[in-house]
Amino acid sequence: MIASLATVGASVALAAGSKEATAQEPVASSASPASGTTYTGDVIDGKKVISALDVNDLQPGKKHLLYFQGVETPTGQHWYVSVTVAKGAKPGKRGVLTSGVHGDEMSSIHTVQTVMNQLDPAEMSGTVMAVTDVSRPALESMQRRWPNSGRGIDLVDMNRVWPGNENDVTATSRHAGLLFNRLLRPNADFAVDFHTGTTGFEVTAFNIAEMDVPEIKAMVELYPVGQIFDNPTYPSVLHNAFIAAGIPSFCPEIGAARHLDLEMIALFVEGTMNVLKHHGIVTGSMGRTGKDVSVFVGNSSFPILATEGGVVEHLVKLNDKVEPGQKVAIQRNSFGEVVAEYTSGIAGEVTGQRSDAMSEPGNPLVFILFRDATTNGAVTYPE
Ligand SMILES: [Zn+2]
Repeated sequence: MIASLATVGASVALAAGSKEATAQEPVASSASPASGTTYTGDVIDGKKVISALDVNDLQPGKKHLLYFQGVETPTGQHWYVSVTVAKGAKPGKRGVLTSGVHGDEMSSIHTVQTVMNQLDPAEMSGTVMAVTDVSRPALESMQRRWPNSGRGIDLVDMNRVWPGNENDVTATSRHAGLLFNRLLRPNADFAVDFHTGTTGFEVTAFNIAEMDVPEIKAMVELYPVGQIFDNPTYPSVLHNAFIAAGIPSFCPEIGAARHLDLEMIALFVEGTMNVLKHHGIVTGSMGRTGKDVSVFVGNSSFPILATEGGVVEHLVKLNDKVEPGQKVAIQRNSFGEVVAEYTSGIAGEVTGQRSDAMSEPGNPLVFILFRDATTNGAVTYPE
């Protein structure tokens, strides 16, 4: 069914053919690599609008601020995303930094902006491109998910649709496809997709990374943060779409959603600058890395789910080490009676905790990062 719809979508787009941009960029061309830069002719707030980008076309030694034309809105305009390119004076590797795939993850945005503001293209060898507001409609209301108008409003998690499909049945997937095919993948030798915990659930500073891939391990170990979640996670997250396209990538997680954690952000800025030095894009000595902190690497995350409704009181803190059988949280009903006690099933470190005090049954209350010798499979995780 999806295949036939995709075919219809493609033929409609080609038949329309009236816009110059459509004629130059058939919708079916999603598999082609960097195919040049297309300016739509529009200018928004002084920024030129593009519908495809090859950073090689941009003038070296300067920063370029552009808008990329994403999918159309229900009212027929477009979701434009901001594109900042620091094009080095000399050639070199091309890095891509993204944030805002989830709309409530503010520290991820600030991390990318801070890195970009530290770059001086005149001194760089290579290129760094940043897109801080990938899921524009989710960001408009600072919510995790994209409000898709297919059946009333469906809330679509944009980090479950990558690499997207320009002819798919949701605007979310089409937007992902446009960005991935025409902006992100064609300009990436490596890519970092920044996230935080989600509204109501905060996490520690950690990186999600496949540590058995040498190019990824080398980058992740340059971050002075205390936890690494070595797990493939879901195939449809953005950093895995990069990996599937042969581009080393990983996913930093920077604390709680909705606010800026400046202390934690500084650690990820330092790590990301180290990564740019590692690739020869930026010169200078390395900052602090994983060697300067104690790093706990786990390959599994043990979820503790609420079994009752009520107010949750945590007995441990983020990053605490816990033992099997250790009580980590209790829950009270409206009378103040304890209705549930929650214990850890394993030894590990607390990596995420529900930050909203009220909970209903099924809500994750605690995630505990641990080393599981028996599995290497993808598991649920608190992004
Ligand atoms: Zn996220």
